Amino acid sequence: EKQQGVALVIGVTGIVGNCLAEILPLSDTPGGPWKVYGVARRPKPDWSPDSPVEYVQCDVLDREHTLEKISPLKDVTHLFWVVWVNRETEEQNCEDNGRMLSNVLDALLPNAENLQHICLQTGGKHYLGPFDAVARNRDFQPHEPPFHEELPRLPAPNFYYTLEDIVFEAAKKKQGLTWSIHRPTVIFGFSPWSLMNIVGSLCVYAAICKHEGLPFKYPGNIITWEQFMDVSDAELIAEQEIWAATDLYAKNQAFNCANGDVFKWKRLWKIIAEKFDLELLSYEGEGFSLAEVMKDKGPVWDAIVGENKLHPTKIEEVGNWWFADLVLNPPWGTVLSMNKSKEYGFFGFRNTETSMGQWIDKVRSSNIVP
Ligand code: NDP
Repeated sequence: EKQQGVALVIGVTGIVGNCLAEILPLSDTPGGPWKVYGVARRPKPDWSPDSPVEYVQCDVLDREHTLEKISPLKDVTHLFWVVWVNRETEEQNCEDNGRMLSNVLDALLPNAENLQHICLQTGGKHYLGPFDAVARNRDFQPHEPPFHEELPRLPAPNFYYTLEDIVFEAAKKKQGLTWSIHRPTVIFGFSPWSLMNIVGSLCVYAAICKHEGLPFKYPGNIITWEQFMDVSDAELIAEQEIWAATDLYAKNQAFNCANGDVFKWKRLWKIIAEKFDLELLSYEGEGFSLAEVMKDKGPVWDAIVGENKLHPTKIEEVGNWWFADLVLNPPWGTVLSMNKSKEYGFFGFRNTETSMGQWIDKVRSSNIVP
């Protein structure tokens, strides 16, 4: 009889967590049929009422709570780490994100005898440095793109390095425990509860422009408007994580995860404008801050939600303006190399323009924007 995988997804309502929750239980998913436990702090969301995921409400930053809720899950075979907290400084990020992972591993390692594999999701900041490194030190030098997995660590604190080290230690402690590290760049996906959701944020911006009759101006700089960029589809990341969790040759490796194509934001902007029936304006050549422009739009968003009977959200939840500002106004263009992932046997890809359109449709059909 087929061995059933038992997944524990920490961050199950997040941008990639949602995809893992959808894909893992499918009958044809590698390593399946999977039983899935999904963890987040808030109560089970109502956007996927029929989900077979066993929802576990738990704050993994709280050690006692984590030991109480996670220790009883003795049948877990695979841990998927798709969660993070964002603090003021990177030192605090290292501290708190590291503590979260240690809490969960301290609950699992002595209890989940069949724990086989840890999928750790980090990201492109592995190569770029943390958000505050550049802000604090103008001489800080990120790596030269295209980024590949074997580049050395940068000389700055980085919670991704902290998480990796915790995973390496755990693998030393438990015989047969393997790991994989997944490094996406900017993620296209669905979650009203994500800390960094570029598609969702831009849908909210578009909806507000439509509602108020404002010009739908592109807020990014000339780099993103004109240069080739890459992004990572959330479903593709989930697929790569499941591949690494179940493929013998993908063990104990780090893999970049991007769509495998390049695009220009000017093309995506046209797609968004068409979807929201907004006039496509010519680009004025300069970016601006959405955080600034959107800062007083809370009541406007509440009105849009009310008038259209949308799923209730606050603008702070669905408009991650600081993140949109960073994504669309970077000081340099970056690109992830997908060579290693392909060389090891993962051939998944996405068409970024199609991906953008599909995620906009998903935000809409889930009743988050009109
Ligand atoms: P999200 O922000 O989309 O989701 C986080 C999830 O974790 C939510 O389900 C949230 O629900 C849950 N969560 C947060 N804090 C806790 C806690 N203390 N205890 C239990 N659950 C918690 O996650 P991402 O997928 O974006 O982030 C995962 C990794 O991917 C991070 O390292 C991030 O830097 C990286 N990454 C993300 C990118 C992006 O564009 N989003 C781009 C590149 C890398 P709740 O709040 O209810 O607890």
